Amino acid sequence: MHYVSTRAASTTASQASENSSTDFPAQFSDILLGGLAPDGGLYLPATYPQVTGAELDAWRKLSYADLACAILKKFATDIPDLDLKALTAKTYTKAVYCNVRGGEKAADITPLRVLEKNTDGTTLILQALSNGPTLAFKDMAMQLLGNMFEYTLAKRGAELNIFGATSGDTGSAAEYAMRGKQGIRVFMLSPQGKMSAFQSAQMFSLQDENIFNIAVEGVFDDCQDMVKAVSNDLAFKAQQKIGTVNSINWARVVAQVVYYFRGYLSATTSNEQQVSFTVPLGNFGNICAGHIARMMGLPIAKLVAATNENDVLDEFFRTGIYRVRKSAETYHTSSPSMDISKASNFERFIFDLVGRDGERVRKLFKKVETEGGFDLSGKPGSDGDEWKLVARYGFQSGKSTHKDRLATIRDVADDYGITIDTHTADGIKVAREHLQPGIPMIVLETALAAKFNETILEALGLDAERPPGFENIEALPQKFVSMSTDLAQMKAYIAAHTGLARIGEQ
Ligand SMILES: *Cc1c(COP(=O)(O)O)cnc(C)c1O
Repeated sequence: MHYVSTRAASTTASQASENSSTDFPAQFSDILLGGLAPDGGLYLPATYPQVTGAELDAWRKLSYADLACAILKKFATDIPDLDLKALTAKTYTKAVYCNVRGGEKAADITPLRVLEKNTDGTTLILQALSNGPTLAFKDMAMQLLGNMFEYTLAKRGAELNIFGATSGDTGSAAEYAMRGKQGIRVFMLSPQGKMSAFQSAQMFSLQDENIFNIAVEGVFDDCQDMVKAVSNDLAFKAQQKIGTVNSINWARVVAQVVYYFRGYLSATTSNEQQVSFTVPLGNFGNICAGHIARMMGLPIAKLVAATNENDVLDEFFRTGIYRVRKSAETYHTSSPSMDISKASNFERFIFDLVGRDGERVRKLFKKVETEGGFDLSGKPGSDGDEWKLVARYGFQSGKSTHKDRLATIRDVADDYGITIDTHTADGIKVAREHLQPGIPMIVLETALAAKFNETILEALGLDAERPPGFENIEALPQKFVSMSTDLAQMKAYIAAHTGLARIGEQ
């Protein structure tokens, strides 16, 4: 299994000379510790591995850990099977995933709960993904990544400085996955004052020496731009041994492919059946994993993209026009982990949509930088007409607002006696607009309500239930530094704390 960049013009000579550190095509372990490809693109497999009906049949019986191993084997062909088995077994344990809501079903790691079975043949199902240590679905991938980093670094005798940006949940998931791990430091940027009190407390209360929280005066996209700028500075990246755990990290995407398989296999009894998924969108990482599962042959009818007020991608799926917003035009909403107007994984889907033409992707995303977007609607003056192919990939979309969120949280509480979080509410709101008879609709639960209590209180007049161990988290001492969006200052801070010499300073 080899990987290519979404911007690779793989036949040109300039490509080869640009890549002194990573040879194309790369293997799984080569890209595990990196972020963007050296040409600024994102990694994808040269071809998607396929699953057979016989494999799906066999996989129905597997535990989550064994299913994860079976799927990873297809992507991480350079890691011995036995090692993959040990890594997935260590990651997806009852001990890690049964603390929060407990119960027998939690042993399934991502148990399904049928919310509605309607007389018209439609079914609405919620897939629990938030039973990990930070109460959001990001743990599902990040916990595996932590163990894979440790494994790979130990093998290579190397160290790694993770530099990332978070709108709330990535940061805590990464820090909890990496805290105390030998040879790893985490530098995490977050938009100052934009996370919920619970989210900030989760991250900033970590006192581990290898964890550095940096609150940036800006919005999430500013933080993400700084990570991209550092990733594009190849000399600094090499010198400071910078890696990333942002949602562009390929291993994170692969780890997420697993719960689409698990959800499908749990909701069906035969491979003749189809299901659809609705996914609350942020950086397009989660739904990108669904796209990959579908490309591998998993019988997914529709992939419904749910946005909040930051509806750049709903607009794209409805019109073919991709128009990113400036940070000043990105709304700060009550589903803050979705407050993203430039979704970094979207390029992976566009690569497939334009027939895997890296040259074309490079031009389109250059246009995003210079003109703020591109237009694939096929209308006169547009950049192409591939929007007409979107349906072939199963994509549909919808949008949810603060009002919808409150109403959905209320009626899910009334009808089913459960409190959902604000992002999952966006998913359920949009999923209800896309139900089809005979095809179960699975909504991916992205976090627990306790993380966004401010809005739960507004919707229900009650506090969200706090899982054991999180009762007084806001009262714990916090450790973080504040910084502007000045890149030079940021780089100096990193270098000072890694102890690695900067170029020109030796
Ligand atoms: C990260 C996150 C999202 C968005 O997921 P992406 O993979 O970035 O699209 C949605 N909801 C919650 C709660 C999240 O933490």
